[in-house]
Amino acid sequence: MLMDYLEPMKAAVLFGFNDVRVTERPVPSPGPDEVLIRVAACGVCAGDIKMITRGMLKQPPFGQFILGHEYAGTVVEVGETVDEFSVGDRVAVEVHKGCGRCRNCLQGKYTLCLNYGDVSKGHRANGFTTMGGFAQYAVNHVNTIHKLPDGMSFDEATTVTIAGTALFGIEQAGGFVPGDTIAVLGPGSMGLMCVQCCKALGAGKVLLTGTRADRLDLGKKMGADVVIDARHENPVERVRELTDGLGPDLVLVTTGAHDSLQQAIEMTHRGSDIVFLAHVDDPITANIGLAVQKGNNIFTVRGEGRMTVHQALALMEQGKIRANELITHTFPLSQINEAIETFVERRDGAIKVVVHP
Ligand SMILES: [Zn+2]
Ligand SMILES: [Zn+2]
Repeated sequence: MLMDYLEPMKAAVLFGFNDVRVTERPVPSPGPDEVLIRVAACGVCAGDIKMITRGMLKQPPFGQFILGHEYAGTVVEVGETVDEFSVGDRVAVEVHKGCGRCRNCLQGKYTLCLNYGDVSKGHRANGFTTMGGFAQYAVNHVNTIHKLPDGMSFDEATTVTIAGTALFGIEQAGGFVPGDTIAVLGPGSMGLMCVQCCKALGAGKVLLTGTRADRLDLGKKMGADVVIDARHENPVERVRELTDGLGPDLVLVTTGAHDSLQQAIEMTHRGSDIVFLAHVDDPITANIGLAVQKGNNIFTVRGEGRMTVHQALALMEQGKIRANELITHTFPLSQINEAIETFVERRDGAIKVVVHP
């Protein structure tokens, strides 16, 4: 087995802004509490595009950085202290491994590690601050891998962090009571995961807003009770109408559109919670005074956390979250740039684009 690794591996490396090249790199070797994964599938995410086009905090240098954080594969080698996983295990990954020594990590908030990007202190965010999964092999700390249920494909498994993020957002707001009405703004992969998570957890009415008919249709198939096309209807008015003038109990914002937070605040009732799950590039404005008047709690999440990836896998195994319909395109690693363009331009209705290294 070891013989294979003497061969270099293929990896997609960022050489400069908008310059991703597939090149050869040595196969990494796992440390004592890490495993080596033969990557089978890695999803393209908006986070990748941000790093490719304008860069992010603590990103590894050009010419070295292997992108990709939504991947799954098979364990092919384990570090000397690893007894939680074995060679041959099929696993999905989550991004963040906290340092385990800062105040936030000690409180379980490892995705908000205060030593973010400091590898020497044990922090890793694969595909963001350390090497990622657009490669034939990747190294992961045991804290960031999860065994896949039998029957779950590697392609499906690339979406567990999206579902885990949706669940973490709901958890941050303190959850909801079964039967609650929830508005989800934005029918991208995060919004569609939010719809499914809410239904899986017993939400009453789930109202999905957006501007793309094909994605709204998919939202309906994935459990949204009503979809609202914001090009033809005023989403705030329509949501209030559908809730007898009251407004939803929880709003999950998955779009960074300039008026998204304002819409969320306007549609809520007094005391509703709002969770912002979108990565926003430019500042957006909203009437915070109105939120204060209504006593809205506004939360943000940047990714998965606590045990929400485990929870997501359990819901996927039970068929309560479906990922296959979100995966619209697959490409071999050699066509990584085509995969990226397909995702960015939403070619042929692209939602999730998955690369097979
Ligand atoms: Zn991502
Ligand atoms: Zn930490």
